[in-house]
Amino acid sequence: MTCAQRVRYDSVLRLAIFGGTFDPIHTAHTRAAREAADRFALDKVLFVPAAHPPHKSDGQTTPFEHRYRMVEIACREDARFEPSRLEEGSERSYTILTIERLRARLAPGDEIYFLIGADAFAEIGSWHRSADVLRAVDFIVVSRPGYELKIPEGARVHRLETLALPLSSSEIRRQLETEGTAEGLHPEVLAYIRAEGLYR
Ligand code: ATP
Ligand code: MG
Repeated sequence: MTCAQRVRYDSVLRLAIFGGTFDPIHTAHTRAAREAADRFALDKVLFVPAAHPPHKSDGQTTPFEHRYRMVEIACREDARFEPSRLEEGSERSYTILTIERLRARLAPGDEIYFLIGADAFAEIGSWHRSADVLRAVDFIVVSRPGYELKIPEGARVHRLETLALPLSSSEIRRQLETEGTAEGLHPEVLAYIRAEGLYR
């Protein structure tokens, strides 16, 4: 069942938004999503690539469609994972708008979580309408080597501290550029990168 086809109104749906640049998606992303889904009994994790990440300039980011395709490929590993086009388009990708768009498609009792790494969560005070974001969702914050968790006033935060995965997309991009291969990619994503000639 996809969110666009919400058919079961008799039970509560628990889903998480997992936003990111996903340039490219890697196995720490899917590992974190799987652990979160197991621990918090999530029905769905929506992987939402940002079309225009507010904190990155457009020239540096791989085109949306490639990032979306790689997310789609990686999401095949778990039936609870769903690639989402909620942030597709020409607008800046602001989380509060994504949450509001999703909320409008759900039943009133459905629960929305926001899955996020400790590095990104540390920046949340600088997000557009951050107070509204903090009120709108519960956060599942995944530990990330080198980042401490500070919880802003009023935030509802659940920690996922079982993981300490050293992977990052920036390190993977660096390895692809210099060595033509990288650790931590799903094999089918690496095949896509090669076929499309990305990150060279
Ligand atoms: P980049 O190095 O380009 O910033 P990234 O690996 O941080 O890439 P993003 O697309 O920026 O990936 O991150 C999407 C989300 O995944 C963020 O909430 C980020 O904190 C989280 N995340 C990414 N890698 C990890 C990791 N190794 N452990 C925990 N969380 C992670
Ligand atoms: Mg990042």
